[in-house]
Amino acid sequence: MANVVVVGGGAAGLVAAWRAASLGHSVQLLEANGRLGVKLRISGGGKCNITHDGPLKELLAAFPKEQARFLRPSLHAFDNGAVLELLRREGVETYTRDNGRVFPLDRPGSAGAVVAAFEALVQRVGVRVRTGARVTGLLGRAPRFEGLLLEGERLHSDVFILATGGASYPETGTRGEVLGWLKGLQVPVEPWFPALAPLPLQRPRPDWEGVALREGELRLSAGAEGRRLASFAGDIVFTKAGISGPAALELSQTTERARRAGAAWLTYASVPELPEQVDAALQAEQRSNPRLLAATWLSRHLPERLVEPLLQAQALSRAQMLKDLPKDARRSLVALVTALPLGEPQAVPLARGEVAAGGVTLSAVDPRTMALRSWDNLRVCGELLDIDGPVGGYNLQAAFSTGFAAGTI
Ligand SMILES: Cc1cc2nc3c(=O)[nH]c(=O)nc-3n(C[C@H](O)[C@H](O)[C@H](O)COP(=O)(O)OP(=O)(O)OC[C@H]3O[C@@H](n4cnc5c(N)ncnc54)[C@H](O)[C@@H]3O)c2cc1C
Repeated sequence: MANVVVVGGGAAGLVAAWRAASLGHSVQLLEANGRLGVKLRISGGGKCNITHDGPLKELLAAFPKEQARFLRPSLHAFDNGAVLELLRREGVETYTRDNGRVFPLDRPGSAGAVVAAFEALVQRVGVRVRTGARVTGLLGRAPRFEGLLLEGERLHSDVFILATGGASYPETGTRGEVLGWLKGLQVPVEPWFPALAPLPLQRPRPDWEGVALREGELRLSAGAEGRRLASFAGDIVFTKAGISGPAALELSQTTERARRAGAAWLTYASVPELPEQVDAALQAEQRSNPRLLAATWLSRHLPERLVEPLLQAQALSRAQMLKDLPKDARRSLVALVTALPLGEPQAVPLARGEVAAGGVTLSAVDPRTMALRSWDNLRVCGELLDIDGPVGGYNLQAAFSTGFAAGTI
């Protein structure tokens, strides 16, 4: 039996520690924060979207291809059903929403109940938990990992599992520094990169804060007149600094890449039809219903709060009827519902992402054990790996599964 040190008491580290101790190893879990699972507690807006329902094939398909290939063995070993069964045995009942997202039953502090379940699990199998223990350095040279620097001391062990998470929400303890230290030890890494974050805009609309555009598509182009680079069907909501909401989050990583490449432009299509089709329908409406107000037509497609300012921006009055709407103005109205310009994004903040893209390069890690290939006694798991799934419980599932694999020693 081995001495095992797990660094990071989040989703991945808790499962890794529990698993290793269940197999009879002597396990110490180090966590920088004063308590365990701080990010878990704020996940899903405090409700914790634990995982995603459905067959593994579907879960894997949600990740980029290379990540899915990497995750397959660990997800098979510890899948969504296994996570839910483990939690159920600790008294955490769950339910699945129509969109497949699985949550603990709605009770105040339901994310806290998930953390409490993991705390009970690690305690029962004898894991020694040290909170308030921030590791400040890594020691070793491949293939031998020598140990950690902790409070000025060197900590040695047979096996080390690093589960220190990503680099977003640094106030939850995840500052991302461990990736830099690994790079210093010649471990291949991809730099941290923002993902699943709100999108700040060059010209935000703070006066529209809280307004949501629903059931349309957020589109990213290479400049105002450039080709389409990506799109995501879903809602957005205006914030003080730009936009948030599911579609904004999902498109944030691609948007930031396009922005850094020199050209990114965002629009929102509230209707799926092509501009020519919407224009033809509007012309038909002009003939059949000439006294209809342009404002009324616009409010069929866009929230009421936007109608007045958008009409004003087109120099149209609230009393404007369709019958004497000039051709140019008609085309402008069509453009507002088929491609409402949101404009250029600003730098997407790494700190505000639900995950951080980047991390330890997957090809450097054995996907069955999470062992670093060139090292004898060093494993990595969770968001510290170069894994970033979409919103929907996928990222926690990846953390649980890779944690389980890392703890299987
Ligand atoms: C606001 C928000 C909401 C989210 N909601 C969801 C959701 O509902 N569903 C979902 O699937 N995903 C969600 N995520 C993503 C998910 O929380 C993460 O992907 C997941 O927590 C990663 O698990 P992890 O164990 O790798 O890292 P973490 O849970 O972040 O744990 C890492 C731990 O390591 C500790 N640590 C870091 N450095 C050191 C060090 N040097 N020494 C000692 N300890 C250290 C940290 O303090 C931290 O506690 C959300 C993320 C955020 C920010």
